Amino acid sequence: MDVVMTTKKRVFSFEEGDGKNKQLLGGKGANLCEMTQIGLNVPPGFTITTETCLEYLAHPARQLPKGLMDEVRQHIKAVEEKSGKGFGDAANPLLVSVRSGSALSMPGMMDTILNLGLNIDTLKGLIQQTGNERFAYDAYRRFIQLFGKIALGVNEKLFDEEFEDVKRKVGVKQDLELSARDLREISDRFQEVLERATGQPFPEDPYEQLEIAIQAVFNSWMGKRAVDYRNYHRITPEMANGTAVNVVAMVFGNLGEDSATGVGFTRYPDTGENKLYGEYLTNAQGEDVVAGIRTPKPIDALHEEMPDLYRQLQELRHKLERHYREVQDFEFTIEKGRLYCLQTRNGKMNATAGVRTSVEMVREGLISKPEALLRIQPEMLEQLLFPRLDPTAKAKPVARGLPASPGAAVGHAVFDADRAEKLGKGGERIILVREETKPEDIHGFFAAAGILTSRGGKTSHAAVVARGMGKPCVAGAEGIRVDVQLRQAFVGDHSIKEGDLITLDGTTGDVYIGEVPTKEAAFSPELDILLVWADEVARLRVMANADTPDDARRALRFGAMGIGLCRTERMFNATDRLPIVIDMILAETPEQRQHALDRLLPIQRSDFKGIFEVMSPRPVTIRLLDPPIHEFLPSEQELTDELEQLRNLRSLTRGVDVLAGTLSFMYPPNTTPLVHQLAEMRVVDEAIKKKEHMLHKVRALHEVNPMLGHRGVRLGLTFPEIYSMQIRAVIEAAAECLKAGIRVHPEIMVPQVCTAQELCRVRAYVDGIKSSVETAYGVKVDLEFGTMMEVVRACMRAENLAEVAEFFSFGTNDLTQATFSFSREDAENKFLPMYNDKHILQDNPFEVLDVKGVGKLMELAVNWGRATRPNLKVGICGEHGGHPQSIRFCHSVGLNYVSCSGPRVPIARLAAAHAALLEKGRGGVSKTV
Ligand code: PEP
Ligand code: MG
Repeated sequence: MDVVMTTKKRVFSFEEGDGKNKQLLGGKGANLCEMTQIGLNVPPGFTITTETCLEYLAHPARQLPKGLMDEVRQHIKAVEEKSGKGFGDAANPLLVSVRSGSALSMPGMMDTILNLGLNIDTLKGLIQQTGNERFAYDAYRRFIQLFGKIALGVNEKLFDEEFEDVKRKVGVKQDLELSARDLREISDRFQEVLERATGQPFPEDPYEQLEIAIQAVFNSWMGKRAVDYRNYHRITPEMANGTAVNVVAMVFGNLGEDSATGVGFTRYPDTGENKLYGEYLTNAQGEDVVAGIRTPKPIDALHEEMPDLYRQLQELRHKLERHYREVQDFEFTIEKGRLYCLQTRNGKMNATAGVRTSVEMVREGLISKPEALLRIQPEMLEQLLFPRLDPTAKAKPVARGLPASPGAAVGHAVFDADRAEKLGKGGERIILVREETKPEDIHGFFAAAGILTSRGGKTSHAAVVARGMGKPCVAGAEGIRVDVQLRQAFVGDHSIKEGDLITLDGTTGDVYIGEVPTKEAAFSPELDILLVWADEVARLRVMANADTPDDARRALRFGAMGIGLCRTERMFNATDRLPIVIDMILAETPEQRQHALDRLLPIQRSDFKGIFEVMSPRPVTIRLLDPPIHEFLPSEQELTDELEQLRNLRSLTRGVDVLAGTLSFMYPPNTTPLVHQLAEMRVVDEAIKKKEHMLHKVRALHEVNPMLGHRGVRLGLTFPEIYSMQIRAVIEAAAECLKAGIRVHPEIMVPQVCTAQELCRVRAYVDGIKSSVETAYGVKVDLEFGTMMEVVRACMRAENLAEVAEFFSFGTNDLTQATFSFSREDAENKFLPMYNDKHILQDNPFEVLDVKGVGKLMELAVNWGRATRPNLKVGICGEHGGHPQSIRFCHSVGLNYVSCSGPRVPIARLAAAHAALLEKGRGGVSKTV
């Protein structure tokens, strides 16, 4: 029998790889193939597949698969032919870069090695080939440094120390000022560092170098940085599994003044403006731009410096956009006057730019509306809701850097990522301040509210990562000197110590000492357009949770289609009402209570009227009183403390009495000083009596478990006069509006319901009050009556509840609490973070709807409810109603609407559109949470 040979192809040249297969070739590899195949000038090279990476990682001893290096050798031969150079050829050396690249772009998360193939022989060849000794030694020292750090794990500080030492010795500040001799010395020192650290000489054989480098790139897939990044961005193996390795012939931007290197965006990544954006450095290598070692020049300067190449770059920009139909972020190198495109990927943009470019690309006929909608992740819109600095604030900036990622951030300055992480986790607002950032600072980014660097451009690591995360960033604020050792920064006459409050404006690049007041963000016209498109395709309607006319007005500006939850207790807490509410609670008889309620009625009526007027003619769902009433009273501790103080005052007041009596003997009548005005016994006694009464009530109302106690409908049925007052206020407000010609659509919703009996009783109040108000006002009020679904039993009895309720609204805050038996007040501060860390639970169920448990109950309740009442309207008003992933689930189980806080309404509108589009595209939604 023949031996079956494995024929799996592990290596693809750029001419043969499938540019669409990012899973196999990684994003970068696929793009290099695609770019080559559409005729862009890409240096020759090949890609080793992600599958090979997985094979390698699965090997117990992490060995490269058999035969791989033979395939690699064949491909190197092909690159030699295409480039006319030889790998290891001392006379005409071919150097290559070895780069990582997974299916999803993970900027800076994995490793790249440049100038591979250099050794003592090829170095000489390179000097001859280029006639530039300085360049060759610079390339050589870079290679040893990167190879040492990445492939052999040598601490980079050891290289940095030697580098700085030589610079100090020869008295230069800029790397560019180093001579060939200096760089040669640095290369020698680097060789020694490497040999000392590894106990091995530097590998001279280029193929050995290549083999080690390939393994290092594969290993970097499982490095801490990459794993953290995948966890944070929830990148699953289905999305990206393993990294490819791209081996590309080196081209050099540092061969002299006719060479350059840079990065470009086909449109402005911060504003979305349809213009070439980019930065470049003449006579430099790509990493100089990305690492921010030298501050690059704006691309427009190239227009002056190399006009023909500028024109070629413009051509490249149009070619890329026409082909990819998405904004591209590309790297280019000019080697002795010849333009090479080294890589391209979809540009990471902030929300402003993402929205603008998507809308404009629809207008330009490049993409369709659904494509534009799906291009913007709903969470991204959060950025547009970021605060800006209050324009009326008089603060003066102390420094200005590059506006690298917009938005304003205030926080305490912290100078290293570890401390930023620690303090940020403790709940402090942090601004991470660095000279420049590196990929290993990533955990500091997660914790920070904003990022400030003193070096680097808009495409430096800090800028790119902050933009991706939507965090404000000011980069390259060169007026600031950062001293990490001292944990201090210096700017002009000021110093910023660790913990000092500072403010960043990522939109202008300004840096302020202290806290500057901020203001809400405004909508761009393009966002309005995009959201109108979203509403056209969405099936879910998006309501707002709003409790006051002001809230309602704001929600309307965000595009709310009604109010899905008006929590009436929030109105009770206003200072003009609280004393009346307290009187109502302290009432000993129904008459006393009614007296207080009679005073509350007109107040509530005018609140509701205000909301109806703002929202007219949209629906407004008003929830009857929900919380346990003790929440309106001070705590037992507060009252006991206050009573103690009043009793002390009582004995003092007795002293005042004695003083008053004494003075009356000392002064003629009518001239005695009015000491009684200070405090009067009667008044103090009255205050004590009131407080004692309150304390008594607080004790009487005390419950061990108030969230499961006397609240919601249970309270409403115990004190029917409270609910009756609220119902009357709603219906009278509606009647007044109707009489004034304002169209209203009120809905009354009952909280905490667990049995249809409860609903029937409240419904009876509603019906009775409605007909009496209608008679009194002579109008017909169109009112819907419904129930919150926030108790497990309510879900189980949905069929019966739907006989009485015309709509259901899932209160998933309470329903989550009830389903898990986790206290919604405490779980998030106690054990939930640990549950998430240990993956006992994937998410915080109070943030991300637990589809498997809570969602299952919802689905059952929807189906059972509609079995009774087929046109039953169903919505959600818990926090999950504003969470995109949860919204998709709500769509999939047939809810009619979601309701969330005002500023999240745009996010929910877009998420609702995504849900509809993705359902169409994929024939349903997977429920995998
Ligand atoms: C809920 O429980 O989800 C809800 C909206 O009500 P509240 O948060 O006011 O209890
Ligand atoms: Mg609730």
